[in-house]
Amino acid sequence: MTKRNLETYTPLIAFAILLGGGIYAYIRIYALNSKIEALSANITSIQQQNASTTADLRANIKENHETLAAALNQQTLNVGVVEQRLKEQVGNVAGTLTTLQKLSRTDKELLAKYSKVFFLSENYAPARLTDVPASYKYSDKKAVSVHADVWPSLQNMIDDAKKAEIELYISSGFRSFDEQKALKGDYKVTYGAGTANQFSADQGYSEHQLGTAVDFLTTGINGDLDRFDGTPAYNWLLANAYRYGFILSYPKDNQYYVFEPWHWRYVGKKLASDLRTQNKSFYNLDQRKIDEYLVSVFE
Ligand SMILES: [Zn+2]
Repeated sequence: MTKRNLETYTPLIAFAILLGGGIYAYIRIYALNSKIEALSANITSIQQQNASTTADLRANIKENHETLAAALNQQTLNVGVVEQRLKEQVGNVAGTLTTLQKLSRTDKELLAKYSKVFFLSENYAPARLTDVPASYKYSDKKAVSVHADVWPSLQNMIDDAKKAEIELYISSGFRSFDEQKALKGDYKVTYGAGTANQFSADQGYSEHQLGTAVDFLTTGINGDLDRFDGTPAYNWLLANAYRYGFILSYPKDNQYYVFEPWHWRYVGKKLASDLRTQNKSFYNLDQRKIDEYLVSVFE
């Protein structure tokens, strides 16, 4: 190659070298760029996958948690139901025990029928007696006592009657077998045996021996029991005594005894109310039916 030739081609060669280098560099950069893009796409895809896996995991955890929570709730509910049932059963057993205890402590004689037909032992006496305060008695002269568990209802009844301007006084309450015997003797002397049998129970047949029966008097009849019928006091008792657990033992035209408007017996609120609602009398009720009320006699 001549000098002239060299001078002429040098820039061309230099340009060619530069061009080649440029193209090569461009191709490399382009290739790298593509790789970077591919990598970037991969990263995004991995990130997306990761995100969806995380979401799935979260969803799974949430679902499991909810299922577990629901299961736990159900279990708690079941335990609650079992607990409630156990409580009910324990309650039932306790209730039955209370009823049995009550019955074992309740004097069966309290609701037994006593009249000419039904007999009470001469040895019988109420468990506890209480003295009637003077202001409730018709006469200051003699002591009057009644069954201690009956007194609160009796006192309540007399107090409420007084509020309604009705005067009720107790002329007689508990009478022992011997007192009844002596009383009957007195009646026989005064009226003769036939009459005495009609209105004074033979000893041992009297409800007064229970301590749950009382004879009432009121003002304006001069202490005459026979005139108690038709008094405002008698009418008030007919309308209200059942509320306090008292019944008229021997109503008009009963088959057991002469009519005794003054003589009222405590049988408990429930029995007294039921007798009134059903329009039945105590002595016409079957004793077994009456005995069902023993458990509620002092309620
Ligand atoms: Zn009486």
